[in-house]
Amino acid sequence: MTTQWISLEEKYYAQTVRRQPIVLVRGEGTRVWDAEGKEYLDFTAGWAVTNLGHCHPAMVQAIQEQAATLIQTSNQFFTIPQLKLAQALIENSCLDRVFFGNSGAEAVEGALKLARKYGKKNRDGAYEVITAFNSFHGRTLTTIAATGQPHYQEAFQPLTPGYVHVDYDDVEAIMAATTEKTAAVMLEPIQGEGGVNIPADDYLQRVRKWCDEQGLLLILDEVQTGLGRLGSLFGYQEYGVEPDVITLAKGLGGGVPIGAFMSKEHCMALEPGDHGSTYGGNALTTAAAYASTQFIIDNDVSGNARVMGAHLTAALEALKSRRGIISEVRGRGLLIALEFHDDVAADVLTNANASGVLLNMVKPNTLRFMPPLNITAEEIDEGVARVEQAINAL
Ligand SMILES: *Cc1c(COP(=O)(O)O)cnc(C)c1O
Repeated sequence: MTTQWISLEEKYYAQTVRRQPIVLVRGEGTRVWDAEGKEYLDFTAGWAVTNLGHCHPAMVQAIQEQAATLIQTSNQFFTIPQLKLAQALIENSCLDRVFFGNSGAEAVEGALKLARKYGKKNRDGAYEVITAFNSFHGRTLTTIAATGQPHYQEAFQPLTPGYVHVDYDDVEAIMAATTEKTAAVMLEPIQGEGGVNIPADDYLQRVRKWCDEQGLLLILDEVQTGLGRLGSLFGYQEYGVEPDVITLAKGLGGGVPIGAFMSKEHCMALEPGDHGSTYGGNALTTAAAYASTQFIIDNDVSGNARVMGAHLTAALEALKSRRGIISEVRGRGLLIALEFHDDVAADVLTNANASGVLLNMVKPNTLRFMPPLNITAEEIDEGVARVEQAINAL
């Protein structure tokens, strides 16, 4: 079965991704099953997406009901799920207005258009955006220009101009890079794809202060950290700052494709005609996202992420004390990295597949854990036991 499906991929699919040799056919909660019937604990959660686990009843019901009622209308008209989701996000954040798109990259593109327009109107045509090395902001031409990792960019020059990269967690570098051309600073509260890089506790506060002094927008790319991942509904709440603009995607839809950018009233520079999307805020996806988001808020799933994040960190620290090949455990909430002294992450991951736990290799020496936010302590313990098996089998 598995080899048959994989041969179809080899024959027909653009070969842009290296996949694990597993064909997933079903999911429930923290578990998924492959085409051979093998069960796995899913600590990747659809790439930090399925915050309520796979096929959560609240989402399944919302999708089934909306699919049978109204799926797509275009934004020429109002639809109710879109407005309910907008209200839930705005009333539970420090932001005032939202725009819905379909992915993280699109959310970031929208925020960057907003920054350009803001610079035109308010900063004498300033258009540059300062971002960080090792950041990740998406795979479109402009978002790879914003992304501070040359290997995403090299094959696609020339890139959209206007992006300046500085070291992450270095406020002085942002100060030094600021010119009259700067319109905004865009950062992730924690760098996810860059390797789970956690800044100093006061980093974002000091960046906020600089942006206020200079009249720059502070954009936080919360595509990965938003919707509870770090232990608060939004990552910025963990750091005691209020951004001007944030982007969301991944966990927002709980598994359906949706992205959003949200901004404070004072900097919502976009006007009628400036931006749009055929599918953006589609009735089906917003009904699903609303069900997921409202469930997270009503049941303090973010709080569970904080408690279970501490549990997973402690379990991995205990594993580190038993297994000398581990060099570091770091993370916040349920975004956690396990780093090895050597580049063994690919081998551990292969063994982890066999022992029944799905992980993500974020660097050659680092595995990333980003399980569903409603995971239980028992599932974490079972998952870590399977990781230990994988390490023992090296
Ligand atoms: C994943 C990610 C993106 C891109 O999202 P896509 O939905 O893959 O386009 C952008 N920014 C951050 C911080 C991300 O983690």
